[in-house]
Amino acid sequence: MSKPIIVGNWKMNGLTADSADRVKQLLAGLTTSPAPGVEVVVCPPFTQLALLAPSLKGTPIALGAQDCHKDDKGAHTGDISAAMLADVGATHVILGHSERRRDYNEVDETVREKVLAATKAGLTPIVCIGETEDQRQSGETEDTLGWQIKGSLPDGFTGVVAYEPVWAIGTGLAATAEDIRTTVAFIRAELERQFGDAGKSLRILYGGSVDANNAASILDIENVAGALVGGASLKPDAFLSIIHAVP
Ligand code: PGA
Repeated sequence: MSKPIIVGNWKMNGLTADSADRVKQLLAGLTTSPAPGVEVVVCPPFTQLALLAPSLKGTPIALGAQDCHKDDKGAHTGDISAAMLADVGATHVILGHSERRRDYNEVDETVREKVLAATKAGLTPIVCIGETEDQRQSGETEDTLGWQIKGSLPDGFTGVVAYEPVWAIGTGLAATAEDIRTTVAFIRAELERQFGDAGKSLRILYGGSVDANNAASILDIENVAGALVGGASLKPDAFLSIIHAVP
C-alpha cells in the first residue's frame, strides 16, 4: 500500500513572497518534526511553480499544480499542458476540482482526458469527485459519485481519488466521520468494480473543511488515505498539524 498523502490546495491565493515564506515555514516544521511515512504535496498557483520548484527539490514536500490542459501543446490561449508542469518540476496535479467543474463547465469526459494527459507526462493525478448539496438532499450522492468515477477515471488509472463533498468545501462544515466512512466505503467498492484488484489499493482522500482540529478523526477512518486541504493549507501551523495527524 502506498503512503498516506496530504495535499495542500492553495487555490488562487498568495503572491510570490507569501508562497516562498509558507514553503520556508513548512520545511522548517518538517525538519524539526519529520513525517517520514507521509507524502506531502503543495499545489500553488501556476505562476509560482517554477519559482518554488528549486526550494522543494530533494525535500519531503512535492510540488503539484491545480489543473492542466488535455493536449500536449497547441493553440489554447491561457492554458498550461501537463508536460509544461512536469518540465518545471511538478509531480502531481489536481484535476476535476468542483470549482473547475463549476467555473469552467468541466465534465467527467474533460477530466478523463486531462487524467490521460497528466499520466502521459508522468504526473500523479489527484482526481476530485463529490456531490453538491442539492444532490445530497435528493438522495443522489451515490449515483453522482458512481458516474463521476466511471466518467473521470480512465482504464488503468493509477492516481489518487479525492472525495470532496461540494457542500463541505470552504464552509467550515466538514462531513461527519460516519458520512465519510459510508461514502468512502462506497467509493472503494466502485473502484474495485471498475478496476478489479487494482481498485483495492488506489488511495482515496477526503477533502472539505479539513483543519487542525478534525484531521486526526478524519484520517483515522477506514479507507481514508489522506486529505486534500484548502483553507488550512495556507496556514503553515495548521497544515503541519494535519500532516502530523496521520496515524
Ligand atoms: P477547504 O477546501 O479545505 O478550504 O474546504 C478543500 C478543497 O477545495 O480542496
